[in-house]
Amino acid sequence: TKFIFVTGGVVSGLGKGITSASLGMLMKARGFRTTNIKIDPYLNYDAGTMNPYQHGEVFVLDDGGEVDLDLGNYERFLDTSLSFDHNITTGKVYSAVIEKERKGEYLGATVQVIPHITNEIKERIRRIARDYDVVIVEIGGTVGDIEGMPFLEAARQMQLEEGRENVAFVHVTYVPKLKVVGEQKTKPTQHSVKELRSLGIQPDAIVARSEEPLEESARRKISLFTNVPEEAVISAYDVEDTYEVPLMLEKEGLARYLVRRLGLPEREPDLEKW
Ligand code: ADP
Repeated sequence: TKFIFVTGGVVSGLGKGITSASLGMLMKARGFRTTNIKIDPYLNYDAGTMNPYQHGEVFVLDDGGEVDLDLGNYERFLDTSLSFDHNITTGKVYSAVIEKERKGEYLGATVQVIPHITNEIKERIRRIARDYDVVIVEIGGTVGDIEGMPFLEAARQMQLEEGRENVAFVHVTYVPKLKVVGEQKTKPTQHSVKELRSLGIQPDAIVARSEEPLEESARRKISLFTNVPEEAVISAYDVEDTYEVPLMLEKEGLARYLVRRLGLPEREPDLEKW
């Protein structure tokens, strides 16, 4: 199985969910058995008790699981039905670990974030991966948040354990344009990638969200400062309709690049139905 982790930098609400769903769709359209997992680093067990004014409406899965809206995007983009296990929250992870501790399953060990919490996270991702060729894992929040740390650490460990050829990282960032200066600014992207690298994660691709298509000079700068080849610096500008995002990402070559990076067979996607 190949794993693609999607992280976000700079600000929240960038479109990590849409990017992950689109990537899932583009992999499925290439004939790979693909699924998506959403990690929500909050302590709530699930989204069922959360204020819809803060998080948007709760999305209810076929098995009754109450989850984040992003899973609705995954279901629509991949034309599939997901189970509650495809949403991993800090609440679920800690409650499982504490339950195991109470049963004595850790045989007297001091139960710690590393390795017990990180192992539980990896186990939950791998359990789902068994039936798939490609698993896209979206890590909610922004790189640098305290809540997200155990998940990023687990992702880093997975690259070590599964092999670099089996785990790729996509980092979604924001490239603002200051009206008075009139140019796209790459500094926030540079800083958030630096933060990611300080955690031992080198992104393979950058998805740069901006109002207008990314300027060539900005692409070059991002590539140079983040050590990501220019062809893997992907422009995701604002579009009218989010259903256009997969086609935009396909044109930009995101999936093609990841297919090559992960050594998957190179195929043209079937986008007829889209
Ligand atoms: P995140 O998961 O990073 O919080 P979402 O995927 O939920 O972000 O996206 C936030 C909002 O931005 C959503 O309303 C989504 O439809 C919108 N969005 C995402 N990508 C684009 C894009 N390229 N153009 C226009 N709107 C977008």
